[in-house]
Amino acid sequence: AEEVGGDDKEVVREYFNNSGFQRWKKIYGETDDVNRVQKDIRLGHSKTVENAITMLTDDDSLRGVTVCDAGCGTGSLSIPLAKEGAIVTATDISAAMVAEAQKQAEEQLLAGKDDLSPAPVMPKFEVKDLESLDGKYHTVVCLDVLIHYPQSKADGMIAHLASLAENRLILSFAPKTFYYDILKRIGELFPGPSKATRAYLHSEADVERALQKVGWKINKRGLITTQFYFAKLVEAVPA
Ligand code: SAM
Repeated sequence: AEEVGGDDKEVVREYFNNSGFQRWKKIYGETDDVNRVQKDIRLGHSKTVENAITMLTDDDSLRGVTVCDAGCGTGSLSIPLAKEGAIVTATDISAAMVAEAQKQAEEQLLAGKDDLSPAPVMPKFEVKDLESLDGKYHTVVCLDVLIHYPQSKADGMIAHLASLAENRLILSFAPKTFYYDILKRIGELFPGPSKATRAYLHSEADVERALQKVGWKINKRGLITTQFYFAKLVEAVPA
C-alpha cells in the first residue's frame, strides 16, 4: 500500500474530476437517483457535517471567524458555515468539485439575500491541493479527505493543516478498528465495479501522534456510523 503512496494524489485528482465527481455529487446531493448504499452514505456524511458544525459553534458564534475548508467537495460544509457568518476559504484538488461548490453556493447563499439578517459572505473557492495552501486561519477543517491517503502521507497533511490553523483543526477520517479492518479486507476481496480509488483507514492513535509531533492535542472526539459509513471526527488545539 504505502509504496504507491506517491501516486495517490494524481489518482485522486483524476478520480474526483471524472467518475468520482459524478458519484459523489449524487451522494452529497438531494436527488432520488441513489441506491440504498449511496443513500446510507449520504446520511452518514450529513451527520458528519452536522457534528462538525456543532463542534464549530459549541463555544462561540462563527460570525467573522476565518475558516479554511480543505478538500471542500461540493461545499456541504462551506455553505452552512457561510450561513453561520464565517469567512470561508474553500479549496479542493478537483476543479470539477470547486465549480460545483461555487454553483451551489451561489444558488443557496444569494437566494435569501432579501431578508433582514446580515447577508452571508460568499466563500472564496479555489482549486488547490491542501499541501499548497498557505496563510493563517482561525479554524481549519478537513472532512473525509484523509481516507484517500495512507498514514505515511496523512502525517504530512495533518502537520501542514495544523500549521495553517491558529486556534483549532477539525478532521474526520475512517477509523482503523479491528471490526472495520475486517470489513475492508472483505471489501477488497470483492471490489465492486465503481471502486476506482483505494480507501485507507487511520488509527486514532496514529492521527493523535501526527498532531502531537507538531505540538497539537485532541480536544473533542466524535464517532459517526451508519450501515456503510463510518467516521471519527476530532477537534485538535495547540497543546
Ligand atoms: N470535505 C468534503 C465533504 O465532506 O463534503 C468532500 C469529501 S470527498 C470524500 C473528498 C474530497 O477531497 C474530494 O472533493 C477530493 O477532490 C478532495 N481531495 C482529495 N485529495 C485532496 C488533496 N490532496 N487536497 C485537496 N483536496 C483533496
